[in-house]
Amino acid sequence: MGGRRIRCSVCGGVFEHEAGIPAICPDCVIREEEECRRVREYVRDNRGASAAQAAAATGVERSRIMRYLANGRLESL
Ligand SMILES: [Zn+2]
Repeated sequence: MGGRRIRCSVCGGVFEHEAGIPAICPDCVIREEEECRRVREYVRDNRGASAAQAAAATGVERSRIMRYLANGRLESL
């Protein structure tokens, strides 16, 4: 593998990092995908919901939802 050990930008845990991928550990990648999926499903069933409503319903922090929106991982609310 030959990755460099760096700190995850989300949880701060040390992990083996390969060049060309985001500085996020595999655990956080899985968790973020899961969170995005939950929010997407909620928004699909609740059109027009606010970020605060989506956060309350899915348990995903509002600040994280806003980041997913900024990253383009969530299209819209
Ligand atoms: Zn992490």
